[in-house]
Amino acid sequence: MNKGNKLYEGKAKIIYETKDKNLVIQHFKDDATAFNNLKKAKVEGKGVLNNRISEYILSNLTQCGIKNHLVKRLNMREQLIRKAEIFPIEFIARNIATGSLTKRLGIPEGTHLEKPLLEYCFKKDELNDPLISKDHIFSFGWATENEIKIIDQMTLRINDLLTGMFRAIGIKLVDFKLEYGKAWNKDTEKKEIVLADEISPDTCRLWDIKTEKKLDKDRFRKDLGNIIQAYQEVARRLGIMPEETNISEVNFGKTIPIKFKKK
Ligand code: UDP
Repeated sequence: MNKGNKLYEGKAKIIYETKDKNLVIQHFKDDATAFNNLKKAKVEGKGVLNNRISEYILSNLTQCGIKNHLVKRLNMREQLIRKAEIFPIEFIARNIATGSLTKRLGIPEGTHLEKPLLEYCFKKDELNDPLISKDHIFSFGWATENEIKIIDQMTLRINDLLTGMFRAIGIKLVDFKLEYGKAWNKDTEKKEIVLADEISPDTCRLWDIKTEKKLDKDRFRKDLGNIIQAYQEVARRLGIMPEETNISEVNFGKTIPIKFKKK
């Protein structure tokens, strides 16, 4: 699949056109950003790991009937995906209180929530992605009531599936962010809601069950070090990296040897 013009460049990914107007290529960069771009770095190997981890998770979700944008992984850094009109909303699901929830409401860090908590944020960097209510979404036409009903059901189902997937490998799924869009379905000749973007340690909080060691982007946000080793640990536990592979955290410009199991 030939890569065409660049359509969009975000903080961690680039989207390219393809010859098919309904398909685009998603390229995973090594760039890491936090606190609305105030903190930036290149974490070499991160794009490769997120590409592989997200491919694994999204293909598992496909098998469980969750419609998503993934067509296939093309190479180490790229995926062929369905082009989707993305809702300008970040959909957050939480199982354990941490991060902005504890800061905003004073809920003690680590509180296990009785049931998953769904939150919505308006995707607007200039405004720091503010928390919004469903009524904001409906009032400003960012999605319809029916679309949000479908998305909420999908998010809760994804939370159940991912909680189980991670529990099986000794990891607690603390919280995560999802994005959804509307993509063309050539069979029904209608647009449908699909899960988009990525699911990776960049977008989830993942804690080791026994030690509560953070295996996600909080290592970057909080300067805990060993970011790549943590992402690699997730990939290894998911069974998508050979045991002997070792990626060391390196600075700019270095090439990191990385091997993945053939599918
Ligand atoms: N998250 C994300 N992108 C964002 C904001 C949040 O992927 O722009 C994820 C984050 O990794 C965490 C969850 O959404 O898994 C909840 O994040 P929170 O609101 O606590 O964000 P914080 O302000 O602490 O980064």
